[in-house]
Amino acid sequence: MLTRRPGLIVAFSGALAASVLAICVSVLLQMRHDALQHAQDSATNLLLLVERDTARNLEIYDLSLKAVIAGLNEPGVDKLPPRIRQMMLFDGSAMASHLGSLLVIDAKGNPVYDSRAVPPRQINVADRDYFQVQRDSPGAGLYVSRPFIPHLSDKSPSIALSRRLSNPDGSFAGIVVGTLRLEYFRSLFDGMNLGPHGSMALMLADGTMLMRRPYDPRIIGRSLLNTANYTRFTQAPSGSFFGTAAIDGVERWYAFTHVARFPLIYDVALSTDDIYANWRRRAWVFGIIVGVLDVLIIWFALLFAQQLRRRMAVEAELRMLARTDGLTSLSNRRALDEIGAREWRLAQRGPQPLSVLLIDVDHFKGFNDLYGHAAGDEALMAVARCIRNTLRRPADHAARYGGEEFVVLLPATGVAGARAVAERMREAVQALGMRHVASTHQVLTVSAGVASTEGRSFADLRALIAAADAALYAAKAEGRNRTMASGVDDCHGAEGTPAPSPAPAPKSDVSPT
Ligand code: GH3
Ligand code: MG
Ligand code: MG
Repeated sequence: MLTRRPGLIVAFSGALAASVLAICVSVLLQMRHDALQHAQDSATNLLLLVERDTARNLEIYDLSLKAVIAGLNEPGVDKLPPRIRQMMLFDGSAMASHLGSLLVIDAKGNPVYDSRAVPPRQINVADRDYFQVQRDSPGAGLYVSRPFIPHLSDKSPSIALSRRLSNPDGSFAGIVVGTLRLEYFRSLFDGMNLGPHGSMALMLADGTMLMRRPYDPRIIGRSLLNTANYTRFTQAPSGSFFGTAAIDGVERWYAFTHVARFPLIYDVALSTDDIYANWRRRAWVFGIIVGVLDVLIIWFALLFAQQLRRRMAVEAELRMLARTDGLTSLSNRRALDEIGAREWRLAQRGPQPLSVLLIDVDHFKGFNDLYGHAAGDEALMAVARCIRNTLRRPADHAARYGGEEFVVLLPATGVAGARAVAERMREAVQALGMRHVASTHQVLTVSAGVASTEGRSFADLRALIAAADAALYAAKAEGRNRTMASGVDDCHGAEGTPAPSPAPAPKSDVSPT
């Protein structure tokens, strides 16, 4: 079925190409979703990891502060030899490389004990927030300071964790403070795989930036208050969202969490470009392959459909040629058999009569002999034209029966009508005025036999044509150039058509030479 319908082939291929495209798009969307999911999973894991690590380290550090406070409460600690006192107050856990000094500060801001020096180094921290907060608010507990450059040590930016020391009456006695180099977080961040444009940050809960990757020393201490991302960080203990960094304008997927028990917020952010980079590359390759495939499918379909159309046109042409008489372009005998059988069936079933005309050129052998075969062919073509031009109804059908004989099928036509048609044809041929000196009429003429199923019954179409042939034979016998109808005219010589009018003088311009 498909092999006879070029349009259907193109439509089918179009649908196939569209399906392939749809599958490709859906797979790509799934891959895109997976890429995001994968990135989100690893970012969330990373976040959890640094949050746990930080909380644990700060907790250990806080324990060290508490241990110092507990030690200070031991009676007679100031009387101990300095070496023993150092060992008692400052345990080994506070000596990790990223930790700065642990200091016991008096109410005026001056160091009393210093984990790194005996006697303590001479500085004053009364201007620092970690001192002032503990002095001014007795219930502050553990305080995480804003970043600062320490007076002591290597001047690398640090934060401090402080706890208050109180006199027995509750009044302010000073603080215990430990510093932590922000460098610690920088190296922590550097160990993480965030992709080329990923970022990661640690900030105080008030929005003060402590450390960020990519690292820029100017960012430390900057406030993120009023930025869109920070606002979202404060809205939940943890979460995720797509946002654009105020610092570099890059669009990223953010996962954030507040550090348990500490006023700190972590965020890990992967750039959407990085998340989809691999996917994008694959999508291009995949898309190009599918695009080429689709173009090929449609191209082949169009090519095939075009070839098919051509073949069908050639077949139709051949079919037409196989049914057409080469000389006269009327239907040939084969087509006549087909059409005749169909018309016969229709006429048998319906009330309408079927009539046939059998038309034969008079003295044509003589015409050939006299004027040559080529002129004979010309004459046959002219007769065919007269026959064809006389037909009016679409259902009427003329065919070359063989030699110089023609058959005309006239469906839904009675004998009188058929005779009239035959007469018009005969007159048309005579009116051509083709000189034929060997004929009694001096011009080329035809005789016609008519037979009709009107009021009569025939066994089959052959019988009907045989009746028309008998009428034609009678017309020949009656002197030619006339029409006789079977069953109406006496086809055995009793009655014929009225004698034709005398033939017109031959036209000189159509005279055969
Ligand atoms: P009648 O009036 O009794 O029909 O005489 P007629 O000479 O026409 O009849 P006959 O059957 O004896 O001759 C038919 C001639 O038609 C014979 C043949 O040479 C010629 N003829 C048949 N087919 C063709 C054709 O295709 N071209 C040409 N030029 N002549 C043809
Ligand atoms: Mg003949
Ligand atoms: Mg003849």
